[in-house]
Amino acid sequence: MKFNIQEIDWGTASRVGNKIYINKNIKKYPGLYQAILNHEKKHTSGWSLADLELDLHDPELSRHKKDFYKFMFKHPKSFMQFCPIVKYNGTWTLDFSLLLVEVALLALFAIILKVLI
Ligand SMILES: [Zn+2]
Repeated sequence: MKFNIQEIDWGTASRVGNKIYINKNIKKYPGLYQAILNHEKKHTSGWSLADLELDLHDPELSRHKKDFYKFMFKHPKSFMQFCPIVKYNGTWTLDFSLLLVEVALLALFAIILKVLI
């Protein structure tokens, strides 16, 4: 599949169909940039359990964790990536795996609070 790469100035990266949106500031970390592009290419164009699995464990991306955290803290707009519903080129998209992970974390947090209180 041929991918169309478009630079953005917020979030980290996302794939919508054959289009990959990537934060232009990631280019300052070439190894991370390539690992993120490869990660986005591995995603399916829809949603499947494989996408969730990939987001929870991608060994190639894990090797660039340090640069990833550096990039995020130097570019606070990258934290917008944690919003599961975003707008790309006027089209709203839902990141289902991100939403699932966040709901699971909230549930876990609620259970912990219930046990403690
Ligand atoms: Zn991903």
